[in-house]
Amino acid sequence: MNLGVAKIKKQNVRINFERLKRTIIKSSQIGTIPGDGLCRLALTEEDKIMRDIFMEWMDEAGLKVKIDDYGNMYGRREGLSDLPPVLVGSHLDTQPNGGRFDGIIGVLAALEIIRTLNDNNIETLRPIEIVNFTNEEGARFEPPLLGSGGATETFDKDFIYNRKDREGKTFEEELSKIGYKGEMSNRVKDVHAFFELHIEQGPVLENEQISIGAVEGIQGMTWLELKVTGESGHAGPTPMSLRCDALMAVSKLIVHIEKKAKCSDADTSVTVGRMSISPNVVNSIPKEVIFSLDIRNKDDAVRELLIEDLRKELQEISKVEKVKLEIKDLWEVKASYFHPGLVKQVVSSAKECGYSVKRMVSGAGHDSKYINQIAPTCMIFVPSVGGRSHVETELTLDADIEKGANVLLLSVLEISNNKKIDELNKESLPSY
Ligand SMILES: [Zn+2]
Repeated sequence: MNLGVAKIKKQNVRINFERLKRTIIKSSQIGTIPGDGLCRLALTEEDKIMRDIFMEWMDEAGLKVKIDDYGNMYGRREGLSDLPPVLVGSHLDTQPNGGRFDGIIGVLAALEIIRTLNDNNIETLRPIEIVNFTNEEGARFEPPLLGSGGATETFDKDFIYNRKDREGKTFEEELSKIGYKGEMSNRVKDVHAFFELHIEQGPVLENEQISIGAVEGIQGMTWLELKVTGESGHAGPTPMSLRCDALMAVSKLIVHIEKKAKCSDADTSVTVGRMSISPNVVNSIPKEVIFSLDIRNKDDAVRELLIEDLRKELQEISKVEKVKLEIKDLWEVKASYFHPGLVKQVVSSAKECGYSVKRMVSGAGHDSKYINQIAPTCMIFVPSVGGRSHVETELTLDADIEKGANVLLLSVLEISNNKKIDELNKESLPSY
């Protein structure tokens, strides 16, 4: 089959930003909350309204729409062949106090790519499918990434359908109620490549004044819970030398954790985000402190070694402080490594447009994490003003959205004219 791919590919094609902006504004009017934010929780009335509009937009763009049994929405633009498609998209749901851009620009830019290809009569060798994944945020039904996790069989159907929101309503009931329970046979499979444009949700690109992040993977993460037990007593009559103060001991543990993390690797991050103190009274010596520890690194080996060392060293410090330390494992996620050939493509698409670009690793989870298990995957990041996300004031500037969408367009165009999956797979994984 010789389809003259060189003729199909058009240089200098760019998205229509004014049109993309209009779709973002329309989305920003659904689930609006004070302070420029959005509350569009998965499978609510607001989610349904957004989905209905997205469905109309896909129809108008001539896409063949499918819905799977988790409510993931796909719109297909046929190619000149029936080779596996290039998939592009993200999610349209938000946090309860979410912003207008997280996930949303990834879906709406995917739609804009289709419209741009239509405007310019550009055909591609492979079909292109755009996608809106259900319940990425996990704000209503925990855990996050249920749509992409279901489609890739990371979670089974019983597990997903029985997730309950705070009012006890199940995922399945709510999916049926909004009319988006589709067919299992429509689930994503046999994909040539997946691209997800997303806001960075951190401050790195803005700080370095770089427009595009070519994302090489997602950090691995461990959650631990540490319980420190000492002895309570009156804050007045008990001399300092005779105390077993759990909180004073914890402060030493945390200082050690920070010091150790800084020595381990520049990419390591540790966070103590939650703490409870008992009895939590002004004039009582704390008897028990329970705190969480979130540890991340792009390299699983670095993270694992750090945890192994901390387990030993924190016990030693606790002994000196005369307190008892118990460490509980809460959760662990391994690092994801995206496809090096696609990362390279994103870098070269950015350069072709004349935009600054940096290879980076995502600190947050995304639908790409699960799609990466079944298909070569890559993400494109655009700057978040002040690194803010999951807040009403989340902001990505128009110029940056436009650049991100153009890089997405050129990358999708290039890869959708790529004949064999082998051409993507011949490169080895990165050596982090
Ligand atoms: Zn997101």
